[in-house]
Amino acid sequence: MTAQWIDGREIAKAIRLGVKEEISTLVRKPALAVVMVGENPASVVYVRNKIKACQEVGITSIERVMPQDSTEECLLETIRALNEDNGIDGILVQLPLPAHINAKAVLEAIDPNKDVDGFHIFNTGKLFTTGEGFKPCTPAGIIELLKATGTPIAGRHAVILGRSNIVGKPMAMLLLQENATVTITHSHTQELAAHTRQADILVAAIGRAKFVTADMVKPGAVVIDVGMNRDENGKLCGDVDTDAVKEVASWVTPVPGGVGPMTIAMLMVNTLTSAKTRQ
Ligand code: NAP
Repeated sequence: MTAQWIDGREIAKAIRLGVKEEISTLVRKPALAVVMVGENPASVVYVRNKIKACQEVGITSIERVMPQDSTEECLLETIRALNEDNGIDGILVQLPLPAHINAKAVLEAIDPNKDVDGFHIFNTGKLFTTGEGFKPCTPAGIIELLKATGTPIAGRHAVILGRSNIVGKPMAMLLLQENATVTITHSHTQELAAHTRQADILVAAIGRAKFVTADMVKPGAVVIDVGMNRDENGKLCGDVDTDAVKEVASWVTPVPGGVGPMTIAMLMVNTLTSAKTRQ
């Protein structure tokens, strides 16, 4: 079997188009504030891509770039001002923050009603209980990718590699909401391949280049590769050894062009959702 690619670029493009059409009907254009401390090269690229997507769909983006040595209090003050600004619908603080700043305190200072990244503990709590609130963009985008393949999620066994707060754990909750049977694995999991081989849906989010090999994948599985790594030649690659795994799986996401564009598309969706509540 040779797997089909799940084309995240095309699926994300269709979602952005839907957002753009809906924004064209609004009285007031949504506005997203993007806060970055320092100029970490990867963060600069991520922020640039988010701003480009905003421009494309008609979201006003407001950039707040603060010096690397900014104090936590200064950052909190910036967030307070954005919270109080009625013209701002979404606030995003680009991670990672410099080590001297407590990222948890900063994320929790964001008004939960403007928390379009879905990282505030209020939205996390909602995700774990009622399923409402802003959903973290990467796992929400993965649900869209799965739906786009037409593969049923309900009743399937989904195995997640990784338990981070931004990918692994919220992914588990979203899959559970879709009625999958969910297993979460991590660095202490024993017999890891025995778990992954049971997966109808395998989501790899560990940050280790080409870690998931063909013998870890059940024939016909849908494999979602969240990882963003560099291989031995410095080339961008995911957590999945895609060349080998695509001979076993039914669907695989490429890196780049799989999960990444969906993360940004879902940020646009969340910002639109926020704006609609305050028109
Ligand atoms: P993270 O916070 O570093 O978490 C990594 C997780 O993987 C941890 O739960 C860790 O287990 C687990 N892990 C590490 N090595 C393992 C192993 N050998 N076996 C099993 N589990 C292992 O990473 P993250 O933020 O979730 O990101 C994961 C990857 O996704 C990174 O490459 C990141 O760049 C990428 N990413 C991409 C997007 C996108 O939009 N495309 C968005 C977010 C993240 P422990 O908890 O036990 O330490």
